[in-house]
Formats: sequence, C-alpha cells, structure tokens
Amino acid sequence: MAPDPQDLKAKALVIHEKLCAVYGCPIPYFHSLDPLSELISSLLSHRTRNAESGRAFKALRARYPDWRALMNADPHEVEQTIQGVTWPEQKAPRIQAVLRAVEERHGALSLDFLSEMPIAEARAWLQSIPGIGPKTSAAVLSFSTLRKAALPVDSHHHRVAQRTALIPASMDVGPSHQALAALLPPNWDAQQVYDNHEVMMLHGQRCCFFKSPACGRCAILDLCPTGQGRVGAGRIPGNAEATP
Ligand code: SF4
Repeated sequence: MAPDPQDLKAKALVIHEKLCAVYGCPIPYFHSLDPLSELISSLLSHRTRNAESGRAFKALRARYPDWRALMNADPHEVEQTIQGVTWPEQKAPRIQAVLRAVEERHGALSLDFLSEMPIAEARAWLQSIPGIGPKTSAAVLSFSTLRKAALPVDSHHHRVAQRTALIPASMDVGPSHQALAALLPPNWDAQQVYDNHEVMMLHGQRCCFFKSPACGRCAILDLCPTGQGRVGAGRIPGNAEATP
C-alpha cells in the first residue's frame, strides 16, 4: 500500500531535523558563482569527484579570459584542459554546445535573467537545452548567486531517500527531484532547501554508504526500513566503507 502523503511529508521533516542536528544547519554555501559559471561547474561535476571537477573549472578559468573564449575554443584544447574529469571528450563539446544554446536562446551569454523567473519556469528553460537535466538545473538555481529554493538530488541523496522509503526503491534519480521536492514545506526558503540536499548528501557520504551502510550508528535508523531490516537480520555493520 502506498504511504499516506502527509505521513511521508512528516517523516521527511523529521529526517531533515535529525540530520541537521548531526551535520549542523544552516550549512554554508560552497559556491558563490554567477549562474552561467555554476552551470559549467555543474556540467563538469557529473560522475566526478569534487576535487577533480574543481581543478578542471579552475583550469578553464585560467586558460580562457571569459566563457565566450571557451565557447569558441578548439574542442580538443578544451578536452585537454579538463583532463581529470570523467569523459572529458564528451564534456568539452557538450559545455561548448550548451554555451552556444544559451546565447542563441537568450541573446546573451548570461543566465542572470533567471533571477526574475519563477523556479519552475527557470528549470524548464534550462532543461530545454540538451545536456541539462533536473540535477543540473536545480544546482544552477540553488548553488549559484541566484540562491533559489530548488532541490538538486545527487546519487548519495537519492540512495538515502530510497533506503528510508521517502521514495520508492524503483524510482530513478530524475523523477526523484519532483517527488522529494514535493515532500518539503512549500514555504521553505532557499537555505532550508539547500540544507535538505546537503544533509541528505552528507549522510550518504559519511554513513549510508553504497556498499555497507553503517546502520548501527545512524541517527535515522528508527525511520529507516532498510536499516531496521539489516538490524533484524543481525547485519549491523561497523563504520567505514568508501562510496564509489
Ligand atoms: S539506517 Fe542504514 S540504510 Fe538507513 S539511512 Fe541509516 S545508514 Fe542508511
């Protein structure tokens, strides 16, 4: 039987509060990039560790005086510049194509105009560009200087949401954006929505590991059917196991 939507919302709120107590909310924003720069940073980060995508972003900044120069650069040169991220041969031409699409559709190489748009409209505008999905559109709106109340869902966040049954285990990360955002109070501001993403992600990185979740020391074990099943089966693991 499908869970009652109100119960699910209440559960999401308790999970948020418990994880905030563990990881410390409000969590400082890790970026203060303009939205177009945040878009490039986000495209670099797909399936790549933060340190590597950060290095690649800095290398692009150092090599090109502005994003127009990046857009018009030799794709092989861009690929060489971002070596270290996953699939640089795909990301280099994709980033350039996205920049061209922004200029063609908006008439300028900037996303600052999104500040005037409602969140749903801004996300739809971004996602109409091939190569931009729900995680990237939410990251641009939330992490950039736009500071909008959009919820990105990365693989860690998604895994914790599945295991705690906030979303069905079968739900992919794409549709989980809408499902998880719908569980949050509609009056939450950008910082609260950002905190929710951050604490769910941090929990996936530091406790709810991909291979061996550390349920024995988990702050939300009482709310998690997966963890309770593991405890019931006598499978309470210890701590560390790195996520892939
Ligand atoms: S109880 Fe285990 S499976 Fe559930 S959220 Fe915590 S670490 Fe993850």
